[in-house]
Amino acid sequence: MMMPLRRTKIVVTLGPSLDDSEMLERVIIEGADVFRANFSHGSLETHEQRITQVREIAKKHNKVVAILIDLQGPKIRIGRFKNKKIHLKEGQRFVFDTELDSDGGTEESVSLDYKNLLHDVHSGDTLLLDDGRIVMTVEQVKGHCIDCQVVVAGELSNNKGINRLGGGLSAEALTDKDRSDILDAVRLQADYLAISFPRNADDVKEARTLLKAAGGTAGIIAKIERAEAVTNIEEIVKAADGVMVARGDLGVELGDAELPGVQKNIIHTARALNKPVITATQMLETMTYNTIPTRAEVSDVANAVLDGTDAVMLSQESAVGKYPDKAVAALNRICLSAEKNPISKRSRHRMDVQFKYVDEAIAMATMYTANHIDIKAIIALTESGTTPLWMSRVRSSIPIYGLSRHVTTQRRMALYRGVYPIAFDATHIDRRVLNQAAVHELQSRNILKEGDLVIINKGDLIGIHGRTNSMKIVTVGSLPQVNLDK
Ligand code: PEP
Repeated sequence: MMMPLRRTKIVVTLGPSLDDSEMLERVIIEGADVFRANFSHGSLETHEQRITQVREIAKKHNKVVAILIDLQGPKIRIGRFKNKKIHLKEGQRFVFDTELDSDGGTEESVSLDYKNLLHDVHSGDTLLLDDGRIVMTVEQVKGHCIDCQVVVAGELSNNKGINRLGGGLSAEALTDKDRSDILDAVRLQADYLAISFPRNADDVKEARTLLKAAGGTAGIIAKIERAEAVTNIEEIVKAADGVMVARGDLGVELGDAELPGVQKNIIHTARALNKPVITATQMLETMTYNTIPTRAEVSDVANAVLDGTDAVMLSQESAVGKYPDKAVAALNRICLSAEKNPISKRSRHRMDVQFKYVDEAIAMATMYTANHIDIKAIIALTESGTTPLWMSRVRSSIPIYGLSRHVTTQRRMALYRGVYPIAFDATHIDRRVLNQAAVHELQSRNILKEGDLVIINKGDLIGIHGRTNSMKIVTVGSLPQVNLDK
């Protein structure tokens, strides 16, 4: 019996736990689709080794996987303490001092790597440290010091992140490190490049300019993790090739209770504007140490799937956790179960809008047809992956096979919900037998059998981007028998 096909894609973050090649192999076999190299941690050499290992093992198993390089961005951090960590007490005074030695932190003060914070915060503001575990109120900003009172106390250790509740920090999205990391991302042939902390479309456009100048073709994923980015969500989605609901930092800036509603809105906006979306952070957090997730985590993943996310992401669960393979297996079964829900299969996507492009109209007509007649599969002969992307915005249970001769396109499609990349070069096949050859490709993989109804999308001109202008419904086995070896 054929295994059910999961539509929602799985992103896993690389890290020490996946350096073990046997574990990585199990994660690939369990179905990871995209591998994230988090450039906030680790050396370039380590990232390169990890990416090479992923590609080798994926190739061995004939799997198309994408590499996502995630830039660090301007995460604002405190300096280090003389004794590595301190214990803050409720009500005590604490000072952030931009002129203090970066290793000179004490129970009373610590240095900051971002001098501009002095201008960005005012008395009465709330500062959150270590993802919100520590909370302070700003009493006054004086000279090079921000004087605070501790509201929620606890342990504070070296280099923890600092955010302002409500956002509004002026830090540029791209740091000097990010600019140089973009060059390495191009060299490493990243399929996606994630921009951390963009505030608006200009931040995304700047990254695209740098990427293009370096000769890169990666898709740009804008991480939504600042309050301003939520306000500017439409322009950011339009400027990017996809977005990530980066719930870690976003939850700190907005407050955790705001997250579920904001997540729904970001997913909805991305889908409506024809862009893929990844839901990230703490999805199966307890599986960092446990073999099964909590019921709440299961619900959280399922709800993201029901919201329509393209992908769900593991962070520390796969990077440093004990059970990355079990976490991927858990995501797999939760996604499959959530996808059985009727709301995952019917869509009103773009019912009320005029289409701009012929290939967009074909994509929508295909999905409308596929959802209303017993179609087994959709085959899209694609150069750039755009037609499959458009189709995958429509909720459906019909698999979309993106057949492309370009490895870069195959890998890009690995992120799109319900799209399954297949290597296939249509340019060398006689047009008269092209439909037959495409169907044959799927039959040889046991995806289709005689009598199945399938829709084929293609253009009159094969090998040219943006020219899909036909959809054809065929019954497998009914096509004229032409020798494909000729
Ligand atoms: C996040 O903040 O949720 C996130 C995905 O970013 P990072 O893991 O880089 O902190």
